[in-house]
Amino acid sequence: MKGGRVVVIGGGPAGLLATGRAAERGALAVLLEKNAAPGKKLLLSGKGRCNLTSSEEDTDLFLSKYGRNGRFLYSVFSRFGPAETISFFESIGVELKEERGKRIFPAAGGAPGVLDALRRYAVGAGAEIRCENEALDLVLREGRVRSVLTKDGEIEGDAFIICTGGKSFPRTGSTGDGYRFARRAGHTVVPPVPALCPVRTAERWPETCHGLTLRNVSLSLRRNGKVTTSRFGELLLTHFGLSGPIAMDMSKEIAAALESGGGELVIDLKPALTHQVLTKRIRRDLDRLSGKHLKEALGGLLPSGLISAVIMKSPIPEQKLVNDIGNREVGELAALLKAFQLTPTGLLGFNWAVVTSGGVAIDEIDPGTMRSKIVENLFFAGEVIDIDGPTGGFNLQMCWSTGHQAGESAAVYAKSLPRR
Ligand SMILES: Cc1cc2nc3c(=O)[nH]c(=O)nc-3n(C[C@H](O)[C@H](O)[C@H](O)COP(=O)(O)OP(=O)(O)OC[C@H]3O[C@@H](n4cnc5c(N)ncnc54)[C@H](O)[C@@H]3O)c2cc1C
Repeated sequence: MKGGRVVVIGGGPAGLLATGRAAERGALAVLLEKNAAPGKKLLLSGKGRCNLTSSEEDTDLFLSKYGRNGRFLYSVFSRFGPAETISFFESIGVELKEERGKRIFPAAGGAPGVLDALRRYAVGAGAEIRCENEALDLVLREGRVRSVLTKDGEIEGDAFIICTGGKSFPRTGSTGDGYRFARRAGHTVVPPVPALCPVRTAERWPETCHGLTLRNVSLSLRRNGKVTTSRFGELLLTHFGLSGPIAMDMSKEIAAALESGGGELVIDLKPALTHQVLTKRIRRDLDRLSGKHLKEALGGLLPSGLISAVIMKSPIPEQKLVNDIGNREVGELAALLKAFQLTPTGLLGFNWAVVTSGGVAIDEIDPGTMRSKIVENLFFAGEVIDIDGPTGGFNLQMCWSTGHQAGESAAVYAKSLPRR
C-alpha cells in the first residue's frame, strides 16, 4: 500500500525519473509541470535523437568532465551511474546503441521514444502527472515545506523535489523558477550563467561561411600569448561567430576569459600536420597546378566555403598565379592555416545555451540522498543544481543519477513519517 506523499516540481528528465522512482518505492508521487506536456527540452536533446549518456566506464574520468563539482556526484553514480542508466532504459523498452565518441543514443524512436518510455514508467508505477500546473511558490512552516502554491491552491506533501532545470532555452519552460524556490528555503544559488553556448566574435568573416562545419580542427583559447585550453573536433561557422561542439564546450572558459580582460581564439585548420609538413604539402599542390590562381589551388586542402575567407586573410594577392608564389609566402600561408585568429566578444546568451552553469550550491545538498541540508523534507535533482558538463550525454546522465536518488530518498523519507 502506498503512503507518504512526494511532490515533484518540474517534468524534465530529472523530474520524470524522480517521480517514477518515488512511486516505485511506494510513495504517492505527484509531478507538477507548467507546460501542457512534460519533457519539452528533452525532445530537443541531441537534435531530437537524445544522447542520453556516455559509455565511458572510468568513473573518475566521467566525473572529471563536470569540473570541480564532479566529485559531488560520486555517491549517486555508485548507485545509479551510466551502466545502471543503460540497464534502466533497456528495462523500460528503450533499446540503445553506441555512436562515435562513446555517445549512447536510442537505437530507434529518438527523444520522443525516451520521453514516452519515461512517462509510461512513472505512470505505470502509480505516479500522477499534472500538466499546466505551475508551481508559484513554496509554503514553508516551522522549517519544513508544507505545500506548493499553484493558481488552483496549495498542494500539500510530505517531501518535495525541485527539478525545475536551469535558465537555458527558456522557451522550453526552464525559466529559473527553482532558484527562487531554493532561495525561499534558505539556499545559496551560485549565479547562473549560460554554458555550452555559441560564441560571438568581432570579425565578420564567419558570416561569409555561415553554416559551414569544419571537421577535425582544433580550437584554442589564448591569453597573454599562452594557450589556456583547447579542443579538437567539429566547429560550425555562423553569421555571429562560432558554434558547434568544440566552441560550445569551450564557451564557459571563453566567458571567464572575457570577464577578466579577454583573450583570443585560434583555429588550427590542419592540426595533424606540422607547419613544416603543411608548407611542403601546399608547395606540392601549387607546383602541380601551374598556371592557376591560388583560389583553385587550395581546393584540395580546404572546404570550398572557406577558401575566400582564407585568401582574404592571406598575404598572397588573390590574382597571383601559383607559379609566382615564393616559398616565403607559402610558409606564411601555412602559418595562417595553423593559426586562424578570432576575437570573442561574448556568448549568445541563455536563449541559445544548451545548459546553465551555476545553481543551487552543492555544499548545501547531501550528496548521498540529494536532500537539502537546510530544510529536511526538500530534495533537488537535475540542472537546477550547480553542476554542468560538456556535450556527449553528460548533462542528461547527471539528471538521471540525481533524479533517481532524489526520488528514492524522498519516498523513503515521506514513508517514514507518522501518518497524519
Ligand atoms: C537544444 C538542447 C539539446 C540538448 N541535448 C542534450 C543531449 O543530447 N545530451 C545531454 O546530455 N544533454 C542535452 N541537453 C541538456 C539537457 O537537455 C538538460 O541538461 C536537461 O534537460 C535538464 O533536465 P532537468 O530535468 O534538470 O530540467 P529541464 O529539462 O529544464 O526540465 C525542467 C522542467 O520543469 C518545468 N518547470 C519549470 N519551472 C516550473 C514551475 N514553476 N512549475 C512547474 N514546472 C516547472 C519546465 O517546464 C520543464 O519541463 C540539451 C539541451 C538543449 C537545450
